[in-house]
Amino acid sequence: MSKSIPELYGSLVFNDAAMRTRLPKDIYKALKKTIVNGTHLELDVANAVAVAMKEWAIEHGATHFTHWFQPMTGITAEKHDSFLSPTDSGEAIMDFSGKELVKGEPDASSFPSGGLRATFEARGYTAWDPSSYAFMKGHTLCIPTAFCSYSGEALDKKTPLLRSMEAVSREATRLLHILGDTEVRRVSATVGAEQEYFLIDKEMFNQRRDLRFCGRTLFGAAAPKGQEMDDHYFGSIRPRVEAFMEELNEELWKLGIPAKTEHNEVAPAQHELAPIFETVNVAVDHNQLVMEIMKKTADRHGLACLLHEKPFEGINGSGKHNNWSLSTDTGVNLLNPGKAPAENTRFLLFLTAVIQAVDEYADLLRVSIATAGNDHRLGANEAPPAVVSMFLGDELEAVVESILNGTDLAGAGAIQMDIGPKVLPHFVKDNTDRNRTSPFAFTGNKFEFRMPGSSVSLSGPNIILNTAVAEILSRFNETLSAVPEGALADAIHALLKETLKAHKRIIFNGNGYTDEWLAEAERRGLPNLKSTPEALPHYISDKNLAMFLKHSVFTKEELFSRYEIKLEAYCKTLHIEAKTMAEMLQKDLLPSVFAYLKELTQTALQKKELLPSLTTKAEETLIERLSGLADDISGHIDRLHTLAQTAEETGEPLDAGSFYHSVVLPEMEAARLAANEAEALIPDDFLPYPTYDSLLFYA
Ligand code: ADP
Ligand code: MG
Repeated sequence: MSKSIPELYGSLVFNDAAMRTRLPKDIYKALKKTIVNGTHLELDVANAVAVAMKEWAIEHGATHFTHWFQPMTGITAEKHDSFLSPTDSGEAIMDFSGKELVKGEPDASSFPSGGLRATFEARGYTAWDPSSYAFMKGHTLCIPTAFCSYSGEALDKKTPLLRSMEAVSREATRLLHILGDTEVRRVSATVGAEQEYFLIDKEMFNQRRDLRFCGRTLFGAAAPKGQEMDDHYFGSIRPRVEAFMEELNEELWKLGIPAKTEHNEVAPAQHELAPIFETVNVAVDHNQLVMEIMKKTADRHGLACLLHEKPFEGINGSGKHNNWSLSTDTGVNLLNPGKAPAENTRFLLFLTAVIQAVDEYADLLRVSIATAGNDHRLGANEAPPAVVSMFLGDELEAVVESILNGTDLAGAGAIQMDIGPKVLPHFVKDNTDRNRTSPFAFTGNKFEFRMPGSSVSLSGPNIILNTAVAEILSRFNETLSAVPEGALADAIHALLKETLKAHKRIIFNGNGYTDEWLAEAERRGLPNLKSTPEALPHYISDKNLAMFLKHSVFTKEELFSRYEIKLEAYCKTLHIEAKTMAEMLQKDLLPSVFAYLKELTQTALQKKELLPSLTTKAEETLIERLSGLADDISGHIDRLHTLAQTAEETGEPLDAGSFYHSVVLPEMEAARLAANEAEALIPDDFLPYPTYDSLLFYA
């Protein structure tokens, strides 16, 4: 590293420091106001910002600019325009106007819209999100934008996230004002996204159709060694991976992405990166960049970065933990239990609101992370179950109990009872509690939502979290705003008690991986939505639609279009997987089986010819087993083709989704077993693709 980290950090970002030094004072102030209050940007301000931004970008090697946006594909999109503008005298100048900064018109017809554009407007436009800084990528100035149709429907993942941030800010601020904290103007949701990923050798990656087309292996005999020795987690990092991480960090730091920790994960070849938390829309933008830069950096190091939730059978998959909290513009983390009784009251109200939100909208949280890839992870013995529950830890659980029972909190460790006028417990939270099996865990001053898959955009889960918490806070506000001041403490206590009583069922501090818990969860009436097609219809239920409408996060059309897109993505993914599997079995595995059978047969025949008394039992056993398996595999190939076609011809998307889940997927599972068995009997050099051994334990 030639530059020091502070020099490097944010050097490719048109950030606050760059704006402050380059913008005229009044323009800087006006822009700041827009960013802080989320208000409209005046054209003269935009023009001045555009000029400064262009100059900054050109100094950093820019020739082009792009409105960088997040269509509903889950990845980011960009269309580059050059700054070049010809003059009348035949020369060229580098030009960039305020209009070009604030608004773009990408040809958007091939992005998924779930029928939205057909119903509304043919074209879409992008609009600058000034709360997320512009940055340089290669020779291009990237301007983070939202993407909408001309009639205002959101066609992307950023717009509803910004709307949900507004909703939770509004309701949280209102509650704080009721509590007497009238200085607060805004409340921001904050997110730290821990990203898991696999690194494998690029050459090997390229030799497997399943990895190339699906991002995961569709079959593969287990290596003799997996993760059972627990020797990878936090283990020392190999030089090749270390070089990758070093460059990755540098790239991220240059973009002002606060990458903080990196370590090996549980599975062989698996790693994790955690940044420091940021405001949620910036954290989501940054996580999208993290994924993109991981892939590009890996490529430069002869590696392939796998972001799929389940690249390999039999070892852990990858998730993306969404650490979430709420923070005021006065610098207070609302999920931080304070020292004074008033701070504890505030903390308990926000904590209780999250508890109710997660209980009432557990189905939506499940939907928000439902993808074909993540279905392989949830409910397996490595990731949270598909049942959403919350972990509070013993201390907080004791606080909850004391509120419910009206009892004092006596002598329990760090917890102290405040003997003020009202019975709200005063305590100091010791954040050493750890429960790795919980889907939604309180970790001292934030909640960690652990269900998101490694490849998903965190926009979805945070839209739900923000909106659901906004909804519950709005109900709290209704109740409490009607209470005369002298009666507020009593009213809060009653509200906490009533809410906790009604939603206590969502709290579970035990081991979430056990069957006992699943049975218990069912008794408690918690939803267990095991697959994506089972979960998705909840997206558009009346209860959930009402919430989105009330807080202006989705219109009905926007919500239904998203439901359609998710369902379609699920079906397409499984279709591609089924076809890839059939092709790989047909073109890669079967020919290898036949080649080895031929060798075995020839060996046996030659042995007999040479010396009739020689036995050929070993060859015959293998020949018989492999011939049988080849027949099985051939049958699976036929069925995969037929079933994929039946699924494709199923008219109703939800029926198609269910068919993929309940018929196609089990067929793929059966084919996988046959393939694994055959593969285990064949020498590696007969196979045209690398096995689990070499993929996971490359040098
Ligand atoms: P651990 O979970 O190992 O204790 P940390 O608590 O330091 O690690 O953080 C895990 C992630 O949670 C990091 O990305 C961190 O920045 C993030 N985080 C910490 N505080 C908050 C907060 N108030 N809001 C959102 N994320 C947070
Ligand atoms: Mg974590």
